[in-house]
Amino acid sequence: PRSGFCKSNSTFYSKRQPLSLPPNLSLDVTTFISSQPHRGKTAFIDAATGQCLTFSDLWRAVDRVADCLYHEVGIRRGDVVLILSPNSIYIPVVCLSVMSLGAVFTTANTLNTSGEISKQIADSNPTLVFTTRQLAPKLPVAISVVLTDDEVYQELTSAIRVVGILSEMVKKEPSGQRVRDRVNQDDTAMMLYSSGTTGPSKGVISSHRNLTAHVARFISDNLKRDDIFICTVPMFHTYGLLTFAMGTVALGLTVVILRRFQLHDMMDAVEKHRATALALAPPVLVAMINEADLIKAKYDLSSLKTVRCGGAPLSKEVTEGFLEKYPTVDILQGYALTESNGGGAFTNSAEESRRYGTAGTLTSDVEVRIVDPNTGRFMGINQTGELWLKGPSISKGYFKNQEATNETINLEGWLKTGDLCYIDEDGFLFVVDRLKELIKYKGYQVPPAELEALLITHPDILDAAVIPFPDKEAGQYPMAYVVRKHESNLSEKQVIDFISKQVAPYKKIRKVSFINSIPKTASGKTLRKDLIKLATSKL
Ligand code: AMP
Repeated sequence: PRSGFCKSNSTFYSKRQPLSLPPNLSLDVTTFISSQPHRGKTAFIDAATGQCLTFSDLWRAVDRVADCLYHEVGIRRGDVVLILSPNSIYIPVVCLSVMSLGAVFTTANTLNTSGEISKQIADSNPTLVFTTRQLAPKLPVAISVVLTDDEVYQELTSAIRVVGILSEMVKKEPSGQRVRDRVNQDDTAMMLYSSGTTGPSKGVISSHRNLTAHVARFISDNLKRDDIFICTVPMFHTYGLLTFAMGTVALGLTVVILRRFQLHDMMDAVEKHRATALALAPPVLVAMINEADLIKAKYDLSSLKTVRCGGAPLSKEVTEGFLEKYPTVDILQGYALTESNGGGAFTNSAEESRRYGTAGTLTSDVEVRIVDPNTGRFMGINQTGELWLKGPSISKGYFKNQEATNETINLEGWLKTGDLCYIDEDGFLFVVDRLKELIKYKGYQVPPAELEALLITHPDILDAAVIPFPDKEAGQYPMAYVVRKHESNLSEKQVIDFISKQVAPYKKIRKVSFINSIPKTASGKTLRKDLIKLATSKL
């Protein structure tokens, strides 16, 4: 196979083993995962209750839930099913059963406000929602719901239409009918929301082929087959979902799931389950460094061998700080984006991660181009430009948004990542900066366009722009430049409060600066780089 940099077509090829994808074009990704030879016994453990799902429990549950969804609820190929739930051992069950029917699995961030969730629902138009009693009031009342929790009884506060209880579906005897819709690899299997390079959040279309490629890559990327993982990353996001509802299931690994991230609960789970691996975003490594003495005194972490880190850039300072405090733990870095379904780069060893700043070498199935964002010229080794990715796991585009799709994926199938990168002579990818608008607060996506749209609804605001402001703990947070109406004495606090009432806590604007006008290009695009320079010049 070709590998390395090919000068004639300016393309970088992966040095890893090429993937072998199943030739069957009517294979759904759930069947592909379930057909992998399983070695492991326990698939999932709920960290809070100790409840376990063995692999046979898991596949029985997937089959029964799919049976109920098809025969009782009437879910068909192409229907959208949303899950709004904190991390749970049942998210993989719902995800795998929905996809097995050719229906489309979608998620929403549980921290989002009811307004934000309604907007997403209006876009994706789900036929059914899986959610908890506590989160159900965030949903529009007319929607059909399956409740995912029955242990903690809580009165439902809104008149939602309950069509099922997940725990009953899981126990139900199968109908015996095997009629299901035929699923093609090209059908949409999943739709996670991402703002991409510009604008508000959009549904990223992931086909069964895309996810099959992701799972095949996961299997071939020699992940240790006896690892015990702790999952604290949110499963509504590509990182948590693709790793823990698909990848580790295909490998037969045990995953201990925490409902939400809490540093000490995570450490407690490592000790209790003798976990060997964590999957985290950089801000958690920072927290682990800051509390290292306490953590090491309180918990036995001798089982922990690796920390996989992704979702945002990891600095040299944090890598070094972490390795100093936890010298027996290896850091493995990874780079991917919602639109690439796990395709990107990752490091294979602790030595590779010590090549500071690198996100690793290219995953086995991606081809890469580095493109000068100003001239469109293709760049070579060690030259910086926008990273373009191509391969079987790359999404075909955004749901019901041809314009954004055309802007992001060109006719040859190259995905423009909006990340400024270079690749060195040994094939290591370095992410230098982010060209796209996206702000990442503790790994969560904050689309500036959504905050700007809210800001200009304020009667005293003429114009506004939102940019990332660097922060040691969160990575970045949203900062607003605001043009006040003449004679307005709107304060920083009033702007912050105006937004925080309307958005999820991670999207809050945390800094405001007033300005006479927002710098723009001739075509009216905000010159964000100028504002970022202005905001950070005093640092
Ligand atoms: P998401 O779609 O939420 O996974 O966000 C993807 C974006 O997060 C990428 O386009 C990058 O901007 C950023 N990102 C993810 N992993 C890394 C990494 N290892 N280093 C630097 N940036 C990263």
